[in-house]
Amino acid sequence: MDYIIIAIFSSLVGSYLGSLSYRIPRKYIEQWYDEEDLGELGVNLQADPTVVESKWSLCPQCKQRLKWFHLIPVLSWTLLGGRCAYCKSRISPRYIIIELLTILSALLSYYILGFSVGFFLLFIILSGMILASSIDIECFILPDFITLPLLGFGSVYTLILFLKAGYLEAPFSQTWINSFFGGVLLPLFLIIFSWLFTKIRGKEGFGMGDIKLLSGLGFWFGFQAVLIALTVGSVAAILNALILSAARGRQILSSYFPFGPFIVLGFVIYLIFFPAFLSLNH
Ligand SMILES: [Zn+2]
Repeated sequence: MDYIIIAIFSSLVGSYLGSLSYRIPRKYIEQWYDEEDLGELGVNLQADPTVVESKWSLCPQCKQRLKWFHLIPVLSWTLLGGRCAYCKSRISPRYIIIELLTILSALLSYYILGFSVGFFLLFIILSGMILASSIDIECFILPDFITLPLLGFGSVYTLILFLKAGYLEAPFSQTWINSFFGGVLLPLFLIIFSWLFTKIRGKEGFGMGDIKLLSGLGFWFGFQAVLIALTVGSVAAILNALILSAARGRQILSSYFPFGPFIVLGFVIYLIFFPAFLSLNH
């Protein structure tokens, strides 16, 4: 029963995330890049401002305002066969994918941490990761408005752990040393590594967005979490690049690719396979 209530509640969050994932990049892309870079990246997010700015959900094709029953998470998209109810144009699968991922995130958080402060925190963080991943896939950027709060609040959290030195029952059962290593030392190492890589190879290693994301996760979940997220994420990214290269018959490792979603994937693998690190207090 708990799981059903959580699934319903989180599907609504997922529906909202889906609409943000469409609107935010279209509204802010010009602040993130100048036009020349956009051309080079091949990012084209032309959209009708009335659709992006409207407080209602509109179909991007026919601009019809969608009714509430067109917006029921997961069900509406499935029943309408992924098409607009009015003009039958295709609706991006992003909505149902984001809704399903959000539901899974909430169920996983509940499974690991039970009904607790940690559950809400983990669910909020995972929701942010879903939105960040979607934006990274579309625009090759992990936006600061997600990574910086994660990092900022995470460093405050580490500081509190340090000052309380073990008296606090932390939501993710971290020690401050663990958080400090994950949030500061590992990312610092990556910055140096990335700098050397750029010097030697003349192209960018890690994006700063990736490092901010890893640092934020490090503060909240500790050294093991970022190490595993980074390792699993890198292996997955390389495999993905090899498979895509083989499928398209050309090298794609050298071109831009979004690394954020792979870090998030690695982090989720960590949550699934190493939950003991998280739930020692529960
Ligand atoms: Zn339509």
